[in-house]
Amino acid sequence: MSVAWEVVIGLEIHAQLATKSKIFSGSPTAYGADPNTQANLVDLGYPGVLPVLNKEVVRMATLFGLAVSATVARRSVFARKNYFYPDLPKGYQISQLELPIVEHGEMHIIGVDGMEKRIGITRAHLEEDAGKSIHEGLDASSGIDLNRAGTPLLEIVSEPDLRSAKDAVTYMKKIHTIVHYLGISDGNMQEGSFRCDANVSVRPMGQKELGTRAELKNLNSFRYIEKAINIEVERQIDLIEDGGTVVQETRLYDSDKDETRSMRSKEEANDYRYFPDPDLLPVEISNEYIEAIRATMPELPDAKQARFIDEYELKSDDAAILTASRMLADFYEGVVKATDATAQVAANWVIGDLGGALNRDGLGISDSKISSDELAGLVDRIHDDTISGKIAKQVFEAMWDGEGSADDVIESKGLKQITDSGAIELVVDKVIADNLGQVAEYKAGKDKLIGFFVGKVMQETKGQANPGQVNQMLRDKLK
Ligand code: ADP
Ligand code: MG
Repeated sequence: MSVAWEVVIGLEIHAQLATKSKIFSGSPTAYGADPNTQANLVDLGYPGVLPVLNKEVVRMATLFGLAVSATVARRSVFARKNYFYPDLPKGYQISQLELPIVEHGEMHIIGVDGMEKRIGITRAHLEEDAGKSIHEGLDASSGIDLNRAGTPLLEIVSEPDLRSAKDAVTYMKKIHTIVHYLGISDGNMQEGSFRCDANVSVRPMGQKELGTRAELKNLNSFRYIEKAINIEVERQIDLIEDGGTVVQETRLYDSDKDETRSMRSKEEANDYRYFPDPDLLPVEISNEYIEAIRATMPELPDAKQARFIDEYELKSDDAAILTASRMLADFYEGVVKATDATAQVAANWVIGDLGGALNRDGLGISDSKISSDELAGLVDRIHDDTISGKIAKQVFEAMWDGEGSADDVIESKGLKQITDSGAIELVVDKVIADNLGQVAEYKAGKDKLIGFFVGKVMQETKGQANPGQVNQMLRDKLK
């Protein structure tokens, strides 16, 4: 008989903090500079230099802690994590071990089964990033780029509360949204500003003890996280069902082969000989400090979504889409404030036509070619019956192509809706006269043909006749 397996996942997410300078030195953190142009003596690990903590990272970690209902430690301590690697010239990474700045947080996600789940956040600690080895373009040698050395990271560690690869991705996306909302990380995954290690184990359904886990290192896309976890789960189940046992180890996901490979086992794992860094004082913060930061907390995604549903009477799916990023939410609210149409109509345009155009052109909302005021200008012309919804799509495309405001496009292309009943009547009469066969059928009871007549009139008027008016007039005349 085959056993049902339960999947258990805990994530360690690394979010790069969006400070201007590094965590312990004044070097800039900007991405993409020439190798070693953004590393000073502290980042290079010269003897005798002293790290100085960047105040900004404390503010950012505090803000994050408050956002996930965690305890922000009044006293936290930096520790040295000792290991050797060429990209770590000091021979240790400054991190936090026993007294991290954030502990005991939580987040709620909607799981794949549609149920709300609480995911515990064990801790979030501050640390510095290491440098990077470079192999490409170098002939039979490797280079070291220390620009990234000393870049501030917030490592967010979850409890083993996740039960599927999909839920792990949902959780990670939510953390991604939150750090972005808080403005503490740009979350750019291509640039490595947001990545995670996934700890994965399986156990027979109903068993209390956790199974032995493998840690999948450095996953930096949502798609890979899901694939890597699923492939690892399959590997572990097959292994156990074939009579083997999972060993605790670090594994790497190979996206080309779609498999995970052992990197090092627990026996080979480093003993980091952590100890408090004697060069750095413990970080002590006051209640007043924490309260001052709490006062700067922006509205978070869940609250914003609830407010959109309540205040704008949006469908919950639409509210979720519109609050997925703070910028999109702001854009949407800009449209709502500027238009006379309903908030749901505004949502339809932002999600539908604008979202479609952004997608098509591979743009983010910040690159939108139409501003929120301009979009409101278009929605208003539908609302006041200047144009039909169908013509509006044509106007939208022209606006997107830089042909001016909605009014400009309507004017220059002569798209104003025909509401003059005399003008409409001429066309209606012509359509009736040209289609006497259909008129007879309609009068004989084939009501559905009304659509045919409306279509003809709209065609004749290039979509500019007011459809409601056309409909009414046809019904009257065909009675
Ligand atoms: P380490 O000190 O080796 O990093 P931790 O106990 O701090 O280990 O756990 C690291 C991560 O692994 C956490 O996110 C935790 O939830 C997760 N984890 C621990 N045990 C398991 C397990 N058996 N299965 C899945 N995830 C686990
Ligand atoms: Mg760990």
